[in-house]
Amino acid sequence: MTREERYREILKRFIESENPAETELHYQNDYQLLVAVILSAQCTDKRVNTITPALFKAFPTPESMAVSTPAAIYEYIKSCTYPNNKSKNLVGMAKKLLTDFGGEVPTDIDSLLTIPGVGRKTANVMLAVAFNKPAMPVDTHVFRVANRIGLTSKSKTPLETERELVRHIPPELLSKTHHWLILHGRYVCGARKPHCEICRLRPWCRTYEKKIKRVISS
Ligand code: SF4
Repeated sequence: MTREERYREILKRFIESENPAETELHYQNDYQLLVAVILSAQCTDKRVNTITPALFKAFPTPESMAVSTPAAIYEYIKSCTYPNNKSKNLVGMAKKLLTDFGGEVPTDIDSLLTIPGVGRKTANVMLAVAFNKPAMPVDTHVFRVANRIGLTSKSKTPLETERELVRHIPPELLSKTHHWLILHGRYVCGARKPHCEICRLRPWCRTYEKKIKRVISS
């Protein structure tokens, strides 16, 4: 099977699945989404969703967060991963929004990358989810699943995976495919144990193809 055929068949199955191509984080505006995405680094969306209601109530705007302190933020986010760093980044992020961007979340990747706590993945999530721009945020699920299926070949870093996926996926499907790969990684193709027995992508999956070849030749 050629790479192009694999992409075509996998995208077709994702589209047919009608799985909701949207984030599982809860938010009501760009600022809240940015806070939630910063908190979600190395943490589950479920955990972040338990933290953010009280946090958003206490700090409803970038202004309120900017005049706060990391110690005050820490009290609200201590149950998530890396609370010390994330508290500092949230205050830094809010200050940056006020000083450089008029209190708004910027809509281009270069500006987003200047904000404390915002790396390439977070910036791409903002582009894709908040601003509906063609972007491919690569998290651990996207990186693993794209490689297992065979959508990527020699990608060793998230940036290489991002570039390879962007080269092959039509711009209008990039953001949706990002969500589909995440959902597939969360609920079917898990890190520890991929559930190939229930996976609808089996006929086009490189890893499954190799598995079958091994069984046949043993
Ligand atoms: S067939 Fe298995 S390895 Fe391939 S995508 Fe499905 S669950 Fe993952």
